[in-house]
Amino acid sequence: MADQQDLMELAKRRGFFFGSNGAYGGTAGFYTFGPEGASLKHNVEAAWRDQFTLRLGNDEIEAPTIMPEAVFEASGHLDGFDDMLVECAECGASHRADHLIEDAVDDIEDAEAVGIERVGELIEKHDLACPACGASLAGEPVEDFNLMFETSIGPGSGQPGYMRPETAQGIFVEFPRLKEYARGQLPFGVTQIGTAYRNEISPRRGIIRVREFTQAELEQFIDPEEDEPPLAEVDDVEVTLYPATEQNAEDGAYIETTIGEAVEEGIIGSPWVAYFLGIAQGWYERVGVDMDRFRFRQHLSGERAHYAADCWDAESEIGGNWIEIAGFAYRGDYDLTKHGEHSEDRFTVFKRYDEPITVEKAVVDPDMSALGPEFGGAAAGIAEALQELAERNPDAFDEEEVTVEANGEEYTVDTEIANFAIEEQTESGEHITPHVVEPSFGVGRTVYTLLEHGYSEDEVDGETRSYLSLAPEIAPTNVAVFPLVSNDDALVEVATDVSRTLRQAGISVFYDDSGSIGRRYRRQDEVGTPFCVTVDQDGLEGDSENTVTLRERDSAAQIRIPVADLEAELEAIFSGEQTFGALRGRHGDVETDVTTA
Ligand code: ATP
Repeated sequence: MADQQDLMELAKRRGFFFGSNGAYGGTAGFYTFGPEGASLKHNVEAAWRDQFTLRLGNDEIEAPTIMPEAVFEASGHLDGFDDMLVECAECGASHRADHLIEDAVDDIEDAEAVGIERVGELIEKHDLACPACGASLAGEPVEDFNLMFETSIGPGSGQPGYMRPETAQGIFVEFPRLKEYARGQLPFGVTQIGTAYRNEISPRRGIIRVREFTQAELEQFIDPEEDEPPLAEVDDVEVTLYPATEQNAEDGAYIETTIGEAVEEGIIGSPWVAYFLGIAQGWYERVGVDMDRFRFRQHLSGERAHYAADCWDAESEIGGNWIEIAGFAYRGDYDLTKHGEHSEDRFTVFKRYDEPITVEKAVVDPDMSALGPEFGGAAAGIAEALQELAERNPDAFDEEEVTVEANGEEYTVDTEIANFAIEEQTESGEHITPHVVEPSFGVGRTVYTLLEHGYSEDEVDGETRSYLSLAPEIAPTNVAVFPLVSNDDALVEVATDVSRTLRQAGISVFYDDSGSIGRRYRRQDEVGTPFCVTVDQDGLEGDSENTVTLRERDSAAQIRIPVADLEAELEAIFSGEQTFGALRGRHGDVETDVTTA
């Protein structure tokens, strides 16, 4: 397993990521992805897009990252998007109160679930000390701290805005238009990969908890009464589940099962959530997460976000801790209902019945020539109130007079003036608010997991080497090409040619002619390049075709193959049609190791 220090050091040295603004003393919670890291991150995003947008047949959008206050008033983030803050009276350091409890109290894995009051009591009971200065935190108030970054839209302070704390709201607020693109037909899914901002109380563990990060989210809109996920596709997918019941039990254990069985036995309540867990399991495996260090954990009831009816997290084991890397929430109709209530637009879809139905409807047709003179300016409001009353309580119109409220005042009207009737109407459908199922992935946490799970050390030629076992699809570079020495024109020419040919085939190539060949191999091992191609004199000698050595990262084994075969053989490996092992079997290992050259 990777030592955290080693990994952070490698990340910085090799250009995966490092703390931002170092020249100005650094800013906690902000990280820059260097050349290798940016490339790795883009590859993770591309693989996510391939699975969750393309293969699932969804649409992708790109919304602004700043949104007006009204959006977050409606979504509940203004009121409820808080973490528990405790400040040290001695040194002024801020801490996540729930995290202090989790670190200090053995049997509490998720202190958010126990509530803010209890967290305060526990700090007192265990007399927890400030991690920064050691002073006691007992008795310090624990407060809710809203995680959103506030800003102003335009000059002045008239229009407050917020940096979005999740990409999801950018999809929800555009639902009235997005449903048009989906031709009003459920189910449909909309994805977005973009930046989210959270003013985390205490950012920590490198890129695991930062204040600006990338999310990849899918909002799946469904008709809860009709739409079923294609569960058969993931029925047999094997998963490790840690449901709430097991977490609460004294001898709780993981459940090793399949998605199909988990749904059948009710371990996962929502088939849609189960479907996405199955798809996600396959995706994490594809990009290179170690499935022995991966699980799905259900949220405990006190832990769920304000919008979630049920939630499962994908968690990976990092440095001995389980870290949430994605959340799968059943958000119900919460978000669309709220935006419908708070805005002018309609957040519903029209659901057509198989056959039109006939319904009886109570209607009024008030005689305005009588209402107008009697009630003046209030007449229109009274007419509306009469219609509302007719729908709510038609019996009220049995009396000679009806009383309604309009503009805060009561009015009594002759029932005759209202012209009350029961009419038969034909309805072809109804407006329903879709439910939302949301897989929400943290891209940075996925990247970190891949680095940690891919990090290995072994002995090669009597020396310890470290390498990153990244999947070819994810590795920043697929193939490194070296001329054995840089001052031999023939070698440089062939190596340059090989680079160009591979690049034109869509393979990402890093060309390097500096330093000893051993150092060049080490460097590529450390950034996870799956293959190195070396052009040496032996390969260009004689009348037969030119050959090069091909070295695989994980085994450090080398074979010699004709230049002419290189592109096809590599493509076959990258597409999964063949393995390096099979190629090695056919060609045999190189006898003299060029690394000693
Ligand atoms: P946590 O409990 O760790 O704060 P969360 O439950 O608030 O996370 P979600 O709101 O479910 O997270 O966000 C979805 C995903 O976004 C998470 O699974 C995670 O991968 C990522 N994420 C959330 N907060 C951060 C952060 N501060 N830094 C990096 N990634 C984050």
